[in-house]
Amino acid sequence: MTTICVIFPQLLGTYGDAGNGLVLHQRARRRGFETTLVSVEPGDELPDAAIYLLGGGEDGPQRLAADLLRESSLSRRVRDGARVFAVCAGLQILGQTFCIEGNDEYAGLGLIDATTKRGVTRSVGEIMTESQGQRLVGFENHGGQTDLGVGVDSMGRVLVGRGNDGAVDGYHVARIWATYAHGPVLAMNPWLADLILEDLLGSKLEPLSSAADLLYDERCRALAS
Ligand code: GLN
Repeated sequence: MTTICVIFPQLLGTYGDAGNGLVLHQRARRRGFETTLVSVEPGDELPDAAIYLLGGGEDGPQRLAADLLRESSLSRRVRDGARVFAVCAGLQILGQTFCIEGNDEYAGLGLIDATTKRGVTRSVGEIMTESQGQRLVGFENHGGQTDLGVGVDSMGRVLVGRGNDGAVDGYHVARIWATYAHGPVLAMNPWLADLILEDLLGSKLEPLSSAADLLYDERCRALAS
């Protein structure tokens, strides 16, 4: 049984990011794969999961989540082979350092060579990127600006919006995907949910027609016009 674990949805749940777990769970089940969806809140032990999901969060909850995760088994589990999908605050927490609450710098988990400084202005609005040969759509609302270390690939090139720095969004290294896009982003981009699921399940998935797939096509058209 493949376990999908949403981490701290009450702290890192901006714009329904916990829904990303539900999307992976349902799209797997509709193809006949048995998955279990669980979530953990502060104080809970992290279960053994195939993938952990981190969402966005306001500065205070983000700092608390980072403090708790530094003490948790997440880094070890990822080094041992677990996957992670992270959005916004989650993206920042997995990096080396991030700045929130003015210019105070906090330590991240150091799983990714990425550092987040405070941008001059907040990045708020629609975001569309060219990611993994597809269009990734969503919306962003963050004060952070993220620099990737040498050799760390982004998720994609920004076409609309800001992402990490106006040029690229997020990062993708083996077993870890991260983006600034909310939505929940996997509901808005079914292709990305399936790409992650195929990696997770080690199996090519049959196409799935759903309302989410139709809405994705419409949104791409609207943002391109
Ligand atoms: N607190 C972070 C920032 O403002 C992340 C915001 C978010 O997750 N939407 O950059």
